[in-house]
Amino acid sequence: MSLKKLYTGENAIEINHLHILLELEGIKAQVRNTYSASAFGEIPYEDSLPQLWVNERDYERANDILRHALSTSDGNLKTWKCPQCREQIDGVYGQCWNCGHIVEG
Ligand SMILES: [Zn+2]
Repeated sequence: MSLKKLYTGENAIEINHLHILLELEGIKAQVRNTYSASAFGEIPYEDSLPQLWVNERDYERANDILRHALSTSDGNLKTWKCPQCREQIDGVYGQCWNCGHIVEG
């Protein structure tokens, strides 16, 4: 089984968000480089950015999901307001960091 690089992102938050989206669609993805690689020194900048890798056979479908997600959100992650404590939460998280309220769907 071989992996193929699907996407290189700007930051770990974006990559984690997309990772969750793929998992929800039943696609196993692997996240690489979410920890700063600068500690390792001489890695080219491009190679130190967070990346998403998927199985080659899932690549086409994953790519569709990704393109759709990126075009509908304009690259910006939506925030939501916790109905319980009214805290603003980043769209990546399904749970309120403040009171622990979990969002349905
Ligand atoms: Zn809350």
